[in-house]
Amino acid sequence: MGKVSKDKRDIFYRKAKEEGWRARSAFKLLQIDEKFHILDGVKRVVDLCAAPGSWSQVLSRKLYLGERIETLRLHNPLSSSCNKDDLASSNPEAAIPVAGNSNEKKFNEEVKIVAVDLQPMAPLPGVIQIQGDITKYSTAQEIIKHFEGLKAELVVCDGAPDVTGLHCMDVYIQSQLLLGALHIACNVLQKRGNFVAKIFRAKDNDILTNQLLMLFESVHVAKPTSSRNSSIEAFVVCQNYNPPEGFDPTCITPFLDVSNKNFSKLSGVNRIIIPFVVCGDVSAFDSDTTYPLQLEGEEKYQYREPVQPPIAPPYSLFMHKKLTTGKISQDDKSLENDLYHVADYKR
Ligand code: SAM
Repeated sequence: MGKVSKDKRDIFYRKAKEEGWRARSAFKLLQIDEKFHILDGVKRVVDLCAAPGSWSQVLSRKLYLGERIETLRLHNPLSSSCNKDDLASSNPEAAIPVAGNSNEKKFNEEVKIVAVDLQPMAPLPGVIQIQGDITKYSTAQEIIKHFEGLKAELVVCDGAPDVTGLHCMDVYIQSQLLLGALHIACNVLQKRGNFVAKIFRAKDNDILTNQLLMLFESVHVAKPTSSRNSSIEAFVVCQNYNPPEGFDPTCITPFLDVSNKNFSKLSGVNRIIIPFVVCGDVSAFDSDTTYPLQLEGEEKYQYREPVQPPIAPPYSLFMHKKLTTGKISQDDKSLENDLYHVADYKR
């Protein structure tokens, strides 16, 4: 009963099983491709965070096995705007992306698909697998090795951390995965290559997309209909890799062991130095030095209260309790909503 209810609640989950996809995510890549044609004529591709492998399946079937995968409209029987004539002519079985069933398999030996994940993945035709962490420089190097000097035309990344439920934390971890994926993309992509990666929608996404625009000629944020509205995921679709002349991708590698990197050798666009300037007289007072209370040549020292203490400091409740009862109980919430002026606690 439990199993059937998931099939009922999630049409893409059900259809993925019916069509032979390892995960419902396959439809996301197919729908992105339907809109942006990122798979057209592609021979070399990297699939980051690939397990259990439905995106790799799409790549394998479409590029390596040369299958035609149709993406037909989803006939939604629950939609009141559904046209009855359309219903008569549509084939509900073929309503969403369908994996073609060609008997004549055409293996395209020119196609190279490299898939990476922390988890092991069951094999797929034409897919080279690497088990590794995409935020590690060693993984980036291993991927590059597989391309034997050639560049990839496409890098995709559907990576997601185990969500904590703390939005800021999840967005941060996701952004580190994106940075890892972008670093790999910048190392393996050929000029005019494309990059697709999962992001979590957050208020700073505009900064992110503008930064990506410095490396790619066009950037879109796409939300496939197979991705639940309730999910904060979306995908950046970055087309036409065109970094600034002389760009060194290791510059965007936060996880690279910087102690091994000779920054003084960087030049051109990779060596933007922000001036670090000192303000004030360096021969006058120093903020890290302890000085005697009586300074030479100054009038006699006397203590003065701060000009304006904080008017509602976070420690006011504690101070009030301490002054009035002499003891603090963690369970006592009676004063929780009160804020006291700090002046009440003057010595
Ligand atoms: N695209 C996949 C598919 O179609 O089957 C689904 C990917 S799943 C949503 C997210 C994957 O990201 C998980 O398999 C997880 O192991 C992987 N992942 C998370 N962090 C990673 C990292 N640092 N390096 C490599 N893989 C990572």
